[in-house]
Amino acid sequence: MNVLLIGSGGREHAISNALTKSPLLTRLYIAPGNPGTARVGDNVDLDVANHPAVIDFCRDAGIALVVVGPEQPLIGGLVDELEKHGVLAFGPTQAAAQLEGSKGFTKDLCRDYGIATASYARFAALEPALDYLREQGAPIVVKADGLAAGKGVVVAGTLEEAERAVQAMFAGAFGLSGAEVVIEECLVGEEASFFAICDGVRALPFATAQDHKRVGDGDTGPNTGGMGAYSPASVVTPDIEARVMAEIIEPTMRAMRDKGAPFKGVLYAGLMLTRDGPKLIEYNCRFGDPEAQVILPRLEGDLLELMLAAARGGSPSQRPRFSPLAALTVVLAAKNYPGTPMTGSEIRNLECAEAVEGVAITHAGTREEGGRLLAAGGRVLNVTALGESVAEAQARAYAAVDLIDWPGGFCRRDIGWREVARERKST
Ligand code: AMP
Repeated sequence: MNVLLIGSGGREHAISNALTKSPLLTRLYIAPGNPGTARVGDNVDLDVANHPAVIDFCRDAGIALVVVGPEQPLIGGLVDELEKHGVLAFGPTQAAAQLEGSKGFTKDLCRDYGIATASYARFAALEPALDYLREQGAPIVVKADGLAAGKGVVVAGTLEEAERAVQAMFAGAFGLSGAEVVIEECLVGEEASFFAICDGVRALPFATAQDHKRVGDGDTGPNTGGMGAYSPASVVTPDIEARVMAEIIEPTMRAMRDKGAPFKGVLYAGLMLTRDGPKLIEYNCRFGDPEAQVILPRLEGDLLELMLAAARGGSPSQRPRFSPLAALTVVLAAKNYPGTPMTGSEIRNLECAEAVEGVAITHAGTREEGGRLLAAGGRVLNVTALGESVAEAQARAYAAVDLIDWPGGFCRRDIGWREVARERKST
């Protein structure tokens, strides 16, 4: 069958790699794709915000399934439009994608269905928000309600910092996404990402990962879209997984059905593992980036079969098979990211890095020009390695990183540090 994948990041390159392993696949198209996805499928120059153009393409190319990678097209209602025209899609409708698109929507849903999360209040005006901050004190967390590319959250250590964040959001730092602000309790614990594949009724536990959001070593500096990740997350024990499914994911599936917006696609729960048990920090309605780059290389089951079943509304009852190996990915970013990245610099020697055993490189923000590979975004490449342990995967990934000749880029040097320390302690 022919499949159209929407997106152009490292996540979509990782999804492409997994889809091409499926015996069900005839042709894979990626819109708009990147130089990495062009190696495994056909990039198509489509404006994905132009829904009629996407539907025309699906008809012309005989597309049996559309897989939507990023959140914007989901929140923009692409799946609704595709379904209206009889095209099968893997991903939530616009109403279901509110789980990611509106933090306030999700917080209210948690309150109504007894799902463990940080206590919170929502504000549409500055003064009451400032009063609430002063009442609660620091540390406290301030969030723009809508999408802000992972950057609309300030974990404020002091009241002054929290006040500045609220003022900036209401002053339009995140455009309409900050027209409403959520202020919440600061949770303490270790974070983990939990992924379930959902068919509208049932959620199938899929995989776990941990990522590093801060730009600097030792988890310092501003938040980013993610500087690296590893999978599985050993902190999510089978007991914790059972609690996450019973106390967070399944009530959410019920809630979305009750609201007439059944959730199909990838439900990605950002968790805080607190002393009182797992609590939901936020939902995303698609695979994480860079988490997909560490989850999908470990998948031994057929991703396309799984996505098809979920889109049609009949997921299997068993989780697919995964390799017991660990995977770790290091994000290479253009200098000055997460500020305005310096793009256009040349990247050399990628072939040498790809030749390292157990290593695969996915493209995120690259472009090709006259046979040269150039940086074209903030997060540019992901160097992913498999290993018997996270420490082994880490050593392989950095051995490959060090072979890449790219003076215009940088990466964190400590991806996986928590897990590596745990592994050392247990041996
Ligand atoms: P989000 O975009 O909601 O995932 O938030 C980005 C990051 O901010 C999370 O990964 C956490 O590190 C942090 N964060 C968000 N909400 C909280 C909270 N209530 N308590 C502590 N940290 C939080």
